[in-house]
Amino acid sequence: MQTLTNRAKIVERKPMSMGERMYLPAIFKGMWITFKHIFRKKATINYPEQKRPFSPVFRGLHVLNRDAEGRENCTACGLCAVACPAEAITMEAAERKPGEEHLYREEKYAAKYEINMLRCIFCGLCEEACPKDAIYLSETFAPANYQRQGFIYGKDDLLIPNPVTEPEAYQKALGGRVVKEMTH
Ligand code: SF4
Ligand code: SF4
Repeated sequence: MQTLTNRAKIVERKPMSMGERMYLPAIFKGMWITFKHIFRKKATINYPEQKRPFSPVFRGLHVLNRDAEGRENCTACGLCAVACPAEAITMEAAERKPGEEHLYREEKYAAKYEINMLRCIFCGLCEEACPKDAIYLSETFAPANYQRQGFIYGKDDLLIPNPVTEPEAYQKALGGRVVKEMTH
């Protein structure tokens, strides 16, 4: 037989012994390996009942923030959209009308704010670019969906619960995050 190198080795194929032909030793060996793992520490957890702590630098689903009075922080300045390398953010600005001071903190607000989670790479640049502490990446995943349209998150999906009317839901959404006091 012609070979490309001199490292070729002819392997002898021995006929199987009686024990090997019964497969029993191999079955018992496999069962022994399984049995040993019963007493070992499990590598898995019962998700979602149990959850592992996230890394301190974990960046998950976006949250649009409100101030302590429940007003939306976002002024639709567009800096997050400009900073986004994936062009995942779109918004439409609107002017606050008299009587809406309890809804929006500044004279301008985002009437429409959308993030395409299929484009997003969760880099966190939008959070860093925002001068109003209006957006941050939480410790939550974007849930699975069968439709692409389901991954376009609008304001209703992104806005944090109102701390005045829903304090418990607000605290839950906040997680371990420290709220910054805005002075401007
Ligand atoms: S996390 Fe990054 S990719 Fe996602 S919306 Fe923000 S800036 Fe864009
Ligand atoms: S989230 Fe922040 S950066 Fe983006 S439009 Fe609103 S205020 Fe501007």
